Amino acid sequence: MNNIYGNTDIRNKLFKSVENGIIGHAYMFCGIEGIGKFEYAKELAKSILCLNRTDGRACDTCESCMVFNSSPDLFVIEPEDSIIKVDKIRQLIDKVSFKPTVSEKSVCIIRDADSMNESSQNALLKVLEEPPQYATIILTVQNPGRIINTIHSRCTKVNFNSLSLEDIKSILNNNEIDSELYEYSCGSAGKMQKILDSSYINLIKDLEEAIFKTNLLEMNDAISKIKSQSNIKEIIEDVFELLIAKLKTRLEDNPLLIANQIETIEETRNNISRNANLDTALDYMMVKLWEQNKR
Ligand SMILES: [Zn+2]
Repeated sequence: MNNIYGNTDIRNKLFKSVENGIIGHAYMFCGIEGIGKFEYAKELAKSILCLNRTDGRACDTCESCMVFNSSPDLFVIEPEDSIIKVDKIRQLIDKVSFKPTVSEKSVCIIRDADSMNESSQNALLKVLEEPPQYATIILTVQNPGRIINTIHSRCTKVNFNSLSLEDIKSILNNNEIDSELYEYSCGSAGKMQKILDSSYINLIKDLEEAIFKTNLLEMNDAISKIKSQSNIKEIIEDVFELLIAKLKTRLEDNPLLIANQIETIEETRNNISRNANLDTALDYMMVKLWEQNKR
């Protein structure tokens, strides 16, 4: 798979252990969105299922590799409406109770496993406590804090790092991305794709400038300009998310002020996601930010 970049040290370690026949029953791939956790999970799964591995890598030609994407020994679970319900985990339990058919192993990948609710996590825990010899479960997780400790302790934890500017250029096949745009992406190819696909970047730049104003009239002008964007309702939550990510990279400039700003923006984002009136929420945010700037 040549379309995987970055985190090569992780990749090398994982395949080295597969080569040595050390295959864990459960892995937890942790890291921000859009940095290749799921792609690596699939690559690892392919290599675990391969019948003719060389140096820990899948051969791409054996019976298992040929049918990999629809392999009866591979089971992928993804969130539906941002949640993984217990029914899905029950399907997984059914699945792992059968011996593999093509390969000697079976692999389940739970994508965005931090979307599992409490009953899903408790159900999964039962499998992790007594996994069948042939089964491996790979969880990809953005926010490990949402996963119960008893699951954590049964998984081999793999922490993924942000991607470099060069990695992102290669993944997106785009040489135009500069270091300023890169900062907004926080080293995530997924986030960068979002930024490139949209008019977000100008909005985020306008907002970033607006929130540091100490003159209320100037701030009001800047916020009014943002409110008047025609598609603002659809994109405001994404814009806030990227703005928060960008502000986090500036924390050292003025730790207290920027931490307060982030808190205010997160609060506003949460209010909007709970259907608060957009104009009112932005006005409230403006006054609060302005008061923080005055101090
Ligand atoms: Zn193979």
